[in-house]
Amino acid sequence: MTDNAYDDEYEFDVNAEIIEGDAEADTTLRPKNLDEFVGQPRVREQLHLVLAGAKKRNVTPDHILMAGPPGLGKTSLAMIIAHELGASLQLTSGPAIERAGDLASILSNLVDGDVLFIDEIHRIARPAEELLYLAMEDFRVDVIVGKGPGAMSIPLEVAPFTLVGATTRPGALTGPLRDRFGFVAQMDFYEPEELEHIVYRSARILGVSIDHPACDEIAGRSRGTPRIANRLLRRVRDFAEVRGDGHVDRSTTRAALIVFDVDAVGLDRLDRAVLGALVKSFGGGPVGVSTLAVAVGEEPATVAEVCEPFLVRAGMLARTPRGRIATARAWRHLGLIPPPELTIHEIETHLDDTFGSS
Ligand code: ADP
Repeated sequence: MTDNAYDDEYEFDVNAEIIEGDAEADTTLRPKNLDEFVGQPRVREQLHLVLAGAKKRNVTPDHILMAGPPGLGKTSLAMIIAHELGASLQLTSGPAIERAGDLASILSNLVDGDVLFIDEIHRIARPAEELLYLAMEDFRVDVIVGKGPGAMSIPLEVAPFTLVGATTRPGALTGPLRDRFGFVAQMDFYEPEELEHIVYRSARILGVSIDHPACDEIAGRSRGTPRIANRLLRRVRDFAEVRGDGHVDRSTTRAALIVFDVDAVGLDRLDRAVLGALVKSFGGGPVGVSTLAVAVGEEPATVAEVCEPFLVRAGMLARTPRGRIATARAWRHLGLIPPPELTIHEIETHLDDTFGSS
């Protein structure tokens, strides 16, 4: 198997990487309704219409899929959906559903109008996925009892429910599963002003004294991700309380983020290790993600799903069919001179963007 073929097939648990320690703060900071949810205006508007329409017709809304990198608010939105519908939320995740029976028991315990949230839905086991098709479409499941020629299929009714699936890899969902969602919310990285707003809101909830320049500084280093913004705020608060008088301003923030290894554009130690390996060990690429992951001692899924989306968005890494490539900006970010062909490519792209390609 080639490295790139493997790239499409890796399957590791990235959750360990993306769920962080301060779970209590995470819960407190979650927005409770659509009005408190900052940013993602399109998704918010679309979701509002889907929910309001269903409420008006007095039916359960279509099943909803939320796609996007970790930490952008998918779980929060699932909670908000249940809240807006006045429904109970049942939470599970793809990796927790190993057998069809696991899912059958979750489904048979649902009550009318429940919202079932399945995180990492792309990782659900195949037999369970097939059971889910029927449940999503007809609100019933066929449970197989016994084995061999004596096996019997017993149809079980499922209470009408709304499935909310979340995935960091929408492309990994099978076609039949994707087709059964009536609405797909594509979550995008947040704009700096939106993150600034989130930091300010979180600081108020946590009782942190912070000024606007500090919020702006944290927002600019949060890689477009609310979970990271909240995490940086908590680390800066630690620093301000231990080394200062507790007030957070821009200079305290900068000093704290040096200690916590977050650079001026928000890259952390792992992001820099990935770029460093790509540039220094592989001459800028192309190289497959699994080779890159081995070089930095990480799981391929962590590199592909946690580091890369932001590195691509920051214009430092390109994903090509032949592997990952460092851009001229990445070389410069590491304090190195990019190879001439990258610089020429950069100038050509800039000219195309400015004057259009003929
Ligand atoms: P995901 O499920 O996409 O990994 P979460 O819903 O768990 O992301 O969000 C992570 C944290 O980020 C939440 O605890 C919440 O505090 C914060 N958060 C996410 N999106 C928003 C938002 N739009 N407004 C305010 N806080 C947010």
